[in-house]
Amino acid sequence: MKSSNSKIVVQIVFSLLTCSLFFKCTNNQRSTYQNIKEYADHVKVIDTHEHQRMAEDFGLTNIRFYHLLHGSYLMNDVISAGGKRLDFGPLDSLDLEVQAKLFNHLLDYTRATSYYSHFIKGFQKLYNFDDLYFTENNIPKLSEQIKLNYLDYPLWFDKSFQKAGFEIMFLDPFWNSLNTEVDERYYALLFHINQLVMQVSRRPSSGDQPSSLYEEAKKDGFNIKTLDDYLLFCDHLYKKMIENKAVCVKNSLAYSRSLYFEDVPYKVAINLFKKSSKNLIPAESKQLQDFMFNWIIQKSIEYDLPIQIHTGYLSGYDNWLENGKPTKLNNLFIKYPDAKFVLFHVGYPWTSELIAFGKMYPNVYLDLVWLPQISRERAILALDEMLDCVPYNKIFWGGDCTFIEESIGSLEFGKEVVAETLSKRIERGLLTEDVAFDIVQRIFRENAVEVFQLKEKLGREF
Ligand SMILES: [Zn+2]
Repeated sequence: MKSSNSKIVVQIVFSLLTCSLFFKCTNNQRSTYQNIKEYADHVKVIDTHEHQRMAEDFGLTNIRFYHLLHGSYLMNDVISAGGKRLDFGPLDSLDLEVQAKLFNHLLDYTRATSYYSHFIKGFQKLYNFDDLYFTENNIPKLSEQIKLNYLDYPLWFDKSFQKAGFEIMFLDPFWNSLNTEVDERYYALLFHINQLVMQVSRRPSSGDQPSSLYEEAKKDGFNIKTLDDYLLFCDHLYKKMIENKAVCVKNSLAYSRSLYFEDVPYKVAINLFKKSSKNLIPAESKQLQDFMFNWIIQKSIEYDLPIQIHTGYLSGYDNWLENGKPTKLNNLFIKYPDAKFVLFHVGYPWTSELIAFGKMYPNVYLDLVWLPQISRERAILALDEMLDCVPYNKIFWGGDCTFIEESIGSLEFGKEVVAETLSKRIERGLLTEDVAFDIVQRIFRENAVEVFQLKEKLGREF
């Protein structure tokens, strides 16, 4: 009995001790986390990747909750749970109650995903929305607020942009990729080069509808008959983009083909271009495209433009995951030491492979863009591993969203991932707070200013 009593006392003392230690530790961690998060909240953010579109681009005047849901990444999870995407037009014609019936039960199954959590964060930040989940009770009110804000979207966008602390977003208008006009109050132009690569093997024959690249060439007075004509026009596009202050090149070709680009000699390409595109076998089309991307890298070195490349997971349901495997790019990093390659999304799910590239090659940079929204936990692990392996002057952050609510949710999520990773390191004695602050400043701002040479390219102070 005695021995059993003393055992209980020891157990109680131990429990109290561990309890108080745990409490102290949690408290410290919380305040370290908060310090870093608060520091991050004061950084003027350079967002290296967005697809922001003005609401009127969609031809709608009545944007509500389910429209924003449809324009978000979260919709991919709703579809993955068994839902069906509606076009904005048909969606617009449905009453809110019908929309709720179609989507709410599926939306509930996504409550644990990172897509859900970052999407709801945008509303928590901008709409004084403090519920943990979207429900049939809170969606109608939220929907009404969205509708009111979107009556003057430019004003709403400006207010939200300033509130979140953005300084500039690199805009990737992939739906109109040869456009050179951006609103410089918010955006920096980038040169989306997918068309240049893909259209080289899709030359229209006489009688065909010309594709937009060949149309654009005609408008600018270029008559493309040979590969040299094609390259001359592409060089003209580079010059046009640079005149309009483009800060980088963007390749999202993994959505259309493999990221493995072979070294195809000019002589081979010139002869393949002579063939009618209709007669090219797939391997020949690929060779022409490979030649073009190699040419684009050389031009990007000449014009001093970093090259952003989508790697890893692909949004949507009909893409081939393996196409985006980052190791397929390895030959390019060795062949072009003077190019600056910025690899996106930490190559999820191949994050370690991507980090190894950042460690191995001085010309390879890593962008966290979109990873926190895809998987918050993987983003924390990947950033931790990145800090183990890669100097932190090579890491960026971007949002990758269509509407401002989602970008702001993504920024909150990004800051939380960085603050959590860094505070854990501080708690373990692996990092001091002042270095953690420097890392935050670097990831959300200074690295982009430096690597993309924003002062020189945009002609303003940063
Ligand atoms: Zn993107």
